[in-house]
Amino acid sequence: MFLEKLFLNVLIVLAPVLVYTAFGDRWQHFKSPYVIGLLYGISSSLCLIFSYYALDLYWDLRYVPLVISTMYGGPLAGFINYLMILATRTYLGGNAILFGYISITLAFLVPLLFAKKIGRLTGRRRIRAVILVSVIPSIVMLLILISFTLLKQVEKPLDFEPIRAILFFGLIQTIGTWLSCTLQEFNFERAIMKEEIQRAEKLKILGEVAASIAHEIRNPLTVVQGFLQLMSATIVEGKNRIFLQFALDEIARAEAIINDYLNFSKPKLTKYEKFSLSDLIENITSLLTPLASYKGIQFDSGVEEQIYVHTDRGQLQQALVNVIKNAVEASMEKAVVQIKLELKDDQAEIKIIDKGKGMTPDEIQRIGTLFYTTKESGTGLGTSVAVRIIEAMKGRIIYESEKGIGTVCTISLPLELQNSL
Ligand code: ADP
Ligand code: MG
Repeated sequence: MFLEKLFLNVLIVLAPVLVYTAFGDRWQHFKSPYVIGLLYGISSSLCLIFSYYALDLYWDLRYVPLVISTMYGGPLAGFINYLMILATRTYLGGNAILFGYISITLAFLVPLLFAKKIGRLTGRRRIRAVILVSVIPSIVMLLILISFTLLKQVEKPLDFEPIRAILFFGLIQTIGTWLSCTLQEFNFERAIMKEEIQRAEKLKILGEVAASIAHEIRNPLTVVQGFLQLMSATIVEGKNRIFLQFALDEIARAEAIINDYLNFSKPKLTKYEKFSLSDLIENITSLLTPLASYKGIQFDSGVEEQIYVHTDRGQLQQALVNVIKNAVEASMEKAVVQIKLELKDDQAEIKIIDKGKGMTPDEIQRIGTLFYTTKESGTGLGTSVAVRIIEAMKGRIIYESEKGIGTVCTISLPLELQNSL
């Protein structure tokens, strides 16, 4: 009986993961902590209901769903699961109900403490961490069981030998957790892969559309620009002069946007050269000074050290301009935007630091996704282009930010020639 009940429990523990595998990517609400808590809570309750009852105790795997829901669904999901276990345990009653409450609470506290830390891990490391965390409630449970068996001195005849059963029980609990986690990680991986495929598809379509439209629009735009410039040579003063300037500025903006799109359709690095990063940064700051001084913003780019990189200068300039422009746009009036350049383990590291409006963790997640913008006249292309370029250079771009405090964008670039892609 003991073994049958435990194996049944393993199946019950795996059930929510199987439900996720089957329906997870079809129903958006599956990610909600309420649904996770409820689903795993049902699993925990079923474990209790189909548990092996001996020595006034319920032998079951109710902690496995509890640990997993807390780890993967967050504290709220865990709490719902916890409440459901309490309710079921109360309903079942029995002599050792107080022991039950204590062990459930202890088993809940441990994963609760680690939930945030483990949430940041991925893949195998997360599985290992979850198993470690689940071992702790297992040990608590085992200690309770052992003390109970000793206290009771086995008055009633059992169909198993207590100590061996307890060890076996711990083992099955760990295996249950491992199986459940591994399957859950598979699900996550699949979801990420799906998202990536969709992103690649989106980029491809955008590239194709951009290439054709940009060329078509550029020509008439150049013609209009030419005529406007001709007109501005004859109209020196008056309202029309101001209107003309507006028209020319807007055409320049349209051109800049088209350039961003074109960058998408041809992200290839073509013109490799060796150049000083410090010089490039100096160049860019003077290029952006008109934009910055409009808001009274100053650049602080103490980059005396000469660091040379071998890559496509034009593309790198485009990426840096996009990032620095964002820093300027996020800053308050009269603020300072810092640009630092350093050599770090064979990598050139550029930091763009602003004390502007900052971003929430959610916004950081979305930055760099195509068309994501919070600005009224933004395109949501700037950072996407920058990310694409830096990635093509085998570099890395990382955003750290805090809402209301500011943002640090760190770009690391390899020093040597990278001619793949
Ligand atoms: P756009 O500048 O056209 O909005 P981007 O791709 O350049 O598009 O930026 C996307 C969004 O990321 C911005 O709308 C802004 O909300 C956010 N962002 C980028 N850089 C910063 C920064 N330094 N500080 C705060 N928010 C930023
Ligand atoms: Mg931008």
